[in-house]
Amino acid sequence: MKFSIVLSTRPEIIKLSPFIKYLKVNKKNFYLINTKQHSLKNMSGIFFDFFKIREKIYNINPLKKSQYIFLSDSIKLISKILLANKPDFLVVQGDTNTCLAGCLSASLLNRNLNKNEKIKIIHIESGLRSFDNNMPEEINRKIVDKLSDILFVPTKFDLNNLKRENCIKSKIVKVVGNTITDVLKECVPICNDSSILKNLKIKKKNFFLVTLHRPESVDNYKNLFKLSKILLNLSNQYDLPIVFPIHPRTKDKLKKFKIKLSDNIKIIEPLKYTDFIKLLKETKIVLTDSGGIQEEAAIIGTPCITLRTTTERQITIFKKVNFLASYDLKKVKKAVDFFLKKKISKISNFGNGNVSIKIYKELLKIYNKSKKN
Ligand code: UDP
Repeated sequence: MKFSIVLSTRPEIIKLSPFIKYLKVNKKNFYLINTKQHSLKNMSGIFFDFFKIREKIYNINPLKKSQYIFLSDSIKLISKILLANKPDFLVVQGDTNTCLAGCLSASLLNRNLNKNEKIKIIHIESGLRSFDNNMPEEINRKIVDKLSDILFVPTKFDLNNLKRENCIKSKIVKVVGNTITDVLKECVPICNDSSILKNLKIKKKNFFLVTLHRPESVDNYKNLFKLSKILLNLSNQYDLPIVFPIHPRTKDKLKKFKIKLSDNIKIIEPLKYTDFIKLLKETKIVLTDSGGIQEEAAIIGTPCITLRTTTERQITIFKKVNFLASYDLKKVKKAVDFFLKKKISKISNFGNGNVSIKIYKELLKIYNKSKKN
């Protein structure tokens, strides 16, 4: 049973790390393909290092002049590796262009392969939907779900999305939870050693944490301007420091649009995982447009305000641990006031830290069954 795993971005490395660790520790046959979609050390390299993912990696270097060129070049390079290595399974995670490129490579290659040689495509974190087709991630998710053979779905909410789209027919679909619970189970205890609070001169439960990077938030002048005003207002009204580990995309856009953030905001470089989780655990509230951080906050028990008009992490809204505030100051303040008064509980809908093993065991069953037929 041979696996090819395509990855590159920060959330992919983090969320695939426990599955890769399981394959490595149990000496399974696998290799990785890194598309270099994220190539900055603090967005990619530090995560490969932290999770000790160092061997069996094909590093490809697709051109990145545009999304089209990145995709077509990645497909060409990934297909070559797949053809030479003939894996049984191709694994992709989430909703990035890397995820789409991996999936399309195997799907196109399968057209030329015999029935018994075909590569089964596995989508981990399948079924998430924001119902907003303006988000590139939403289009990627839908295509990858349609083309994959095996779908690992985090929650029943996500399964319902697939059912509504009639996207479960002739596929193997399993609700297993999210591998981020495996990651947090290991990392939350370790993050207690982090000195990030001391370094930033901030105190437990006495600061806000902010992250922003989605194209719809930061590539659009109006939205980014509104967000900068929201942050200014929060820092004035609540008299708490705001910590903002800034994504390179956001840094570029603020510069391009000449938007200056309030001096009360501590703008810092993207953090290593344990420092970030320490801040997420100790913040009063996290304000974010990230998908993964909405899940992590809900699992750790930190209140979250999502600075977007839609979210694909529906369960967190339903459970009232996350509020969708759009780019609307009134909604943000209402959510802040709600969370300042009310303590929230951790949610367990994403699983309890054994998701990667569940995924491996399902795949072993599928593989053994296919060999018998
Ligand atoms: N993260 C991190 N350092 C940071 C900011 C985020 O390690 O400075 C982690 C965070 O804990 C989460 C992931 O990066 O696991 C989220 O990545 P991102 O927001 O880029 O992507 P998304 O989840 O929106 O796809």
